[in-house]
Amino acid sequence: MKYKECLRCGYTRTPNETAPADQCPSCGAYYAKVAANQQRARKQPEPPAPASKKHTFRKILTALETAKAAPRQAQIEARASQTTLVRGYRGRQAAAIAEFQKEAAQLEQEGFEPTNQMWEPGNWGCLSFILATCLIPLFGIGLLIILGLIIVKPPGTLTVTYKRVPSSAAPR
Ligand SMILES: [Zn+2]
Repeated sequence: MKYKECLRCGYTRTPNETAPADQCPSCGAYYAKVAANQQRARKQPEPPAPASKKHTFRKILTALETAKAAPRQAQIEARASQTTLVRGYRGRQAAAIAEFQKEAAQLEQEGFEPTNQMWEPGNWGCLSFILATCLIPLFGIGLLIILGLIIVKPPGTLTVTYKRVPSSAAPR
């Protein structure tokens, strides 16, 4: 006998079965058909399951994190060989100072110490006043804008010079 055990249900054929010789008495499958199907399945490997959306999202996040960390790491490495560093912080004075303090804390860990600070107030530029003047004929809005430009201070730049502090841990 060619097929004794069913490839589909695993039933082993006994010598006296009522089912046709080419058919499984238990599940009714044709032995030849099941064998052919299984062979075909082996030849065609299952296509790779598409990555789930969650997985793709995680991948993108990881890539973004890496991209974000890479320039920062590069910056730290570039700074490692420098002894002085000049950084500019743009914005309103309070915001620029806050930004400076935030970065100074990080630079301190890398061995830098701020040595010089310079606040340079910004200006609105002639263009702002020219534009505002052009708006005066329109309901006097321009006058209000000019008043606002005079009262509200424009963002300036805080320039800080850092110097590397000779570290006692560094090899001589
Ligand atoms: Zn069977």
